[in-house]
Amino acid sequence: MSGYTRPRVCVLHVGGTIGMVKTAGGYEPQPGFLQQHMAEMPELQRSEMPAYEVVSLEPLLDSADMAPDDWVRIAREIVERHDDYVGFVVVHGTDTMAYTASALSFLLPNLSKPVILTGSQLSLGHVRSDGREHIITAILLAGTLPVPEVCLYFASRLLRGNRAQKIHNHDFIAFDSGNLAPLATVGVSITVNTHLVRPPGSGRLKAAALTCRPEVASLRLFPGLGARMMGHMLAPPMQGVVLETYGVGNAPSRDPALLAAITAATQAPREVVVVNCSQCHGGSVRQTLYSTGAALARCGVIPGFDMTPEAALTKLYCLLAEGLAPAQVRARMQQNLAGELNPT
Ligand code: ASP
Repeated sequence: MSGYTRPRVCVLHVGGTIGMVKTAGGYEPQPGFLQQHMAEMPELQRSEMPAYEVVSLEPLLDSADMAPDDWVRIAREIVERHDDYVGFVVVHGTDTMAYTASALSFLLPNLSKPVILTGSQLSLGHVRSDGREHIITAILLAGTLPVPEVCLYFASRLLRGNRAQKIHNHDFIAFDSGNLAPLATVGVSITVNTHLVRPPGSGRLKAAALTCRPEVASLRLFPGLGARMMGHMLAPPMQGVVLETYGVGNAPSRDPALLAAITAATQAPREVVVVNCSQCHGGSVRQTLYSTGAALARCGVIPGFDMTPEAALTKLYCLLAEGLAPAQVRARMQQNLAGELNPT
């Protein structure tokens, strides 16, 4: 590898539609397919492009099959190769890309290089695949852009990873960030919103130390949700729950048994960390604006402000996995750790 003058980017292939083929049982990832298509893309060989190497994780996964262990594995692969590359592209399925991007932002707290997740709605085997442009631009951005964050590149926009959500399963504009403008937009020229970009971390990159596999869950409120279901969700061994509430953080407040079930879980000795995030794609949680939200606050539920439920769930997982006590987890859930929230 000596003699390279071009910046080098590592492409970590994790899975997703972009490298899938149609089988009798539906789309599935195929080993070697992504590399073969990338090798046939002349743009990737041009001198103005960074040099790249593809590392495939095994087995390649549909991201619906991914779990927290996979987030940790990706983080470790990045740490291991960190010194050899100027940036990383993680080729990933779109279904849970927002979760992995969020998790990586918490697992790599002192990141100083770009880590850009991308994928596509159509496989590279398709003539109209959106993956071609995504791969080319993600490699270019990872090799040249001063954005030392975990990002998600899709449909001409570079979003902060822990602010992104999958909003469409058909349109090419599949991701959006309801509470933060893109870190960069890609048109005739590439415009970076430098005022939004976080400063690089200092010190040697290391993955967060995880000591256990915590029990966390999300519960999306729905009209008719009763105390029994709430009690089941919050029952031991549950340690942390993201409560996806209505509007600015409201929940049904007229059923004392429902509120009692939440209170019993959040208080000692259980001390389940229950975080309030809105079902809305944009806006922030303000638990005391309505009495229906204030009731949750009295039950010991903490506000997740403008965090996405994806960011809140992965943050809960990472903090609890570090072995922090519930009081510390509660405090840190309300602090901005990786650009995921604005505590207003
Ligand atoms: N099911 C696929 C995945 O998430 C969808 C995609 O990549 O677009 O892996």
